[in-house]
Order: sequence, then C-alpha cells, then structure tokens
Amino acid sequence: MPELYDTPASPATFRRRVLSWYRGSGRDLPWRHTRDPYRVLVSEVMLQQTQVARVLPAYRRFLDRFPTLRALSRAPLGDVLREWSGLGYNRRARDLHRIARRHSSVPRTAAELDDLPGIGAYTASAVACFAFDQPTAFADTNIRRVLGRALLGRTATDREAIALDARFGSRRKGARWHHALMDIGATICLAKRPRCDACPLRSHCDYDGDERLSRRKQSPFALSDRRVRGAILRHLVRSPRGVTVDALRTGISDPRVERLVGTLAREGLVEVSSGTVRLPTR
Ligand code: SF4
Repeated sequence: MPELYDTPASPATFRRRVLSWYRGSGRDLPWRHTRDPYRVLVSEVMLQQTQVARVLPAYRRFLDRFPTLRALSRAPLGDVLREWSGLGYNRRARDLHRIARRHSSVPRTAAELDDLPGIGAYTASAVACFAFDQPTAFADTNIRRVLGRALLGRTATDREAIALDARFGSRRKGARWHHALMDIGATICLAKRPRCDACPLRSHCDYDGDERLSRRKQSPFALSDRRVRGAILRHLVRSPRGVTVDALRTGISDPRVERLVGTLAREGLVEVSSGTVRLPTR
C-alpha cells in the first residue's frame, strides 16, 4: 500500500515511526533505566527548570547522598540544599524534602502526585507514566513543538498538545513514546533550526518553517480535513486518468475520503464520473 503521502499518518503509523526512531536514536539517560518512583521523581523535579547536561551530575550526586525517600526525610534541609547547589530554583529541593517528610512512599496516580508540594500537572503525569506505567497524556516544551509542528503546522498550546498526545500517543509504551518525543524535540525538531532531513516524521509533517505564518486558530480535527483534502489532490495529480474512490480510500486510509471527495467536487476542484475521481478536465 502506498505511504500516506505527506498527510498525517494514522495515529498507529505516526506512533510506530516515533517509537522505532527511539529504538535506534533515543538518548541514554540514567533516569530512564529505573522505575524507582523516588528516583523518577527526583529526576523530573530537577528537569523542571534545568537542562539535561546540568542535571546529569547533580542527579547522580544527589542520589548517592540521599538514595531513598527515607534517607532524604532524615536529612536536615540544609544538607539537601547544599547538595542541590548549582541547580538553582532551590524551592524545588525544599519541596522534595517536604514530600519526603510527609510521605513514606511516592503516590501512584497523577491526581495524588499533583497534590504534592511543588509538583504541577506536568510533573505529576510524567512521574505516573515513567514510574508507574499509568496511561497519562502530557506535554513539555519539546513535545508541544514536535506534535504541534507535525500535526498542526505550528507549536501547539499546552491544551492542544495534550489532546494530540491523548489521540496519537502509545498507552502501552507511554514512557518510550514520551521520551522519544522529548528527544526528537531536543535533538532534531529544534526551536530555531529544525533538522527535518533527519526527522522520522518528515513525511507527515505540516510545518512550513514559519511559526507566525502557520499560526492558525483551528482545531486539530479541522486541520486534518485540510490535510486529507491535500492528500486527495496530490494523489490525483499523480494519476492523470483518475482513480476510484475505493482506491483513494485505501491509499489514504482515512474514513473521510468519500465525504471530502464530495466537498471537493462541489467546489469544482475534482470531477467524479462513474465512480472515478480526477482533476477537472475542463
Ligand atoms: S519534520 Fe521538521 S518541523 Fe516537522 S517534526 Fe520533524 S523536525 Fe520538526
């Protein structure tokens, strides 16, 4: 079956591309080798406002000194702050310390995690996903940029990105899915100069290179209609003698093909005759 041209793939195809890229090219980071909720929580709190390169040594040092929630709870706050020095935003250390003093273990659900001091919705969902395999949808800056550019043609808002993540994301492999998107955003889909040639999503991406020009107020679903229409027209450009609606439906793998062919015909952009669709001949 032909590839889905440059339309967005089905969620399954999109997901497969992201996950298979991650298998070969994802970043190897120490907190991705553990499911220990305390270690995952420490890493996520550190990563809230600090770059990965600075977190790496601090994460190792902190866990050497406070290997468990219990060890952290027993330490005086001054020691915790000393160990945190260099990372900045010291309130994070204070909040981690408070969590350790109030809880004997890290809560499991995003809702419970969200109630902890200093833990917002994003960190709560990330910890629930990475430590407990909970099927949560969430998005950081990198995820907003990758999902947004690929599926909306611009960086998504928080709300849009979470909706896209819920629709396209892998529930079974949530940790790998989110790590992969973060890595694509951090190493390929860079804010200023995306390296589209190296991107596993290039054939499905709607980004035209300009965040301002492509900033449109459309829902992901309205935009999807536009892309399916584009795919139909591109298909017809390649098939001067026309194709059947069935072939279009199979090639584009989208249930809206028939309806959108009707719309295109009413707009005079295609001709339909005896079940064959072609570009207008007159
Ligand atoms: S193709 Fe380019 S703009 Fe689109 S997601 Fe990949 S790197 Fe980002």
